[in-house]
Amino acid sequence: MEVKAAVFREVGKPMTIETLQLDDPKEKEVLVKVVACGVCHSDVHAINGDWAALVPVPIVAGHEIAGVVQKVGPGVTTLQEGDHVICCWMVSCGTCFQCMLGNPTLCETAIAAFMGGTMLDGTLRHKDKEGNPVHQAFFCGGFSQYTVTPEASTVKIPKDVPLEDACLISCCIPTGYGSVFNVAKMKPRSSVGVWGCGGVGLSTINAAKLAAASPIIAVDLEGSKREIALELGATHFIDSSKEDPVPKVFELTGGKGADYIFECIGDQGAQLQAYYAMRPGAIFVLSGIVAIAAEMALPTFYMPFQQRTIVGTLYGGINPQFDIPRLVDLYLAGALRPDKMITRKIKLEDVNEAYEAMEKRQIVGRWVIMMD
Ligand SMILES: [Zn+2]
Ligand SMILES: [Zn+2]
Repeated sequence: MEVKAAVFREVGKPMTIETLQLDDPKEKEVLVKVVACGVCHSDVHAINGDWAALVPVPIVAGHEIAGVVQKVGPGVTTLQEGDHVICCWMVSCGTCFQCMLGNPTLCETAIAAFMGGTMLDGTLRHKDKEGNPVHQAFFCGGFSQYTVTPEASTVKIPKDVPLEDACLISCCIPTGYGSVFNVAKMKPRSSVGVWGCGGVGLSTINAAKLAAASPIIAVDLEGSKREIALELGATHFIDSSKEDPVPKVFELTGGKGADYIFECIGDQGAQLQAYYAMRPGAIFVLSGIVAIAAEMALPTFYMPFQQRTIVGTLYGGINPQFDIPRLVDLYLAGALRPDKMITRKIKLEDVNEAYEAMEKRQIVGRWVIMMD
């Protein structure tokens, strides 16, 4: 079938809106009509060259999808035509070494396809008008009217969940929730510092509120994010363009430093600040992903003396088929608030405007592409 999609072809160039040919789903795959796709900061790294060596081109980016199943391939047992779904950007096979160890986001079966922008069998489903294959980002390829996704990463959700809200339960919400509950295993009354108030940061704040943390201190270079951070559950907001957040975090935590720190941007300056805001024995969770070449010099003297823990997480360590339905339940119970995070709905044709705005840190909350 023919589909309209935004294709990223070259670093530094805008995505182009093209008509692609999309093949039918193969074994254990489904065809999904994309209804909503969030615009995530991870794609900025892919587009601006930060991850150039790792991004296969041409590629349909976009990895925060909610949509409707149109067709199922052979062997699909858990989904059928008409199902509303969230498409996740990770497959967990459940049987490889890492999955058996309890590390679903390190699945060895999926990693080559994940990095290569292919389906699990290593092949592609989109072709451009010259007949050249086009990759799709992280099993998703959400900047397209339709996409083909693996059954294993496509999760059925109830039809009463608005798909525009649901798409955020595909990337930023599970990353934030998983960072708090799976990785930090946060206890009530903990003090928390969250660096970066984009989608993942706001989702981390929302989850910390669910964990009954206090204070929850949001830090961002853009004062315009104060209101939304407080709305999602932050008790304090520090504009780090105007004030050094480290002494302020100590002031707000009775001179101790924060019990848990989250760096949700992927910025070495923020990571270093955040490291200094830890209390002895604190856990520092890194969910933001920096440029490939980025390095950071940390004063590791404090690591043993203060028994600090630094832990990286991809996707909050979630198991899509297990955790996404739980997050949908929390959404239906009013505990998770993607509706408060979405500040603008745009068309596919506006995708480049969204990325320019994101690069300039002008996006407050999350923008969502509503596909026509
Ligand atoms: Zn994302
Ligand atoms: Zn696996």
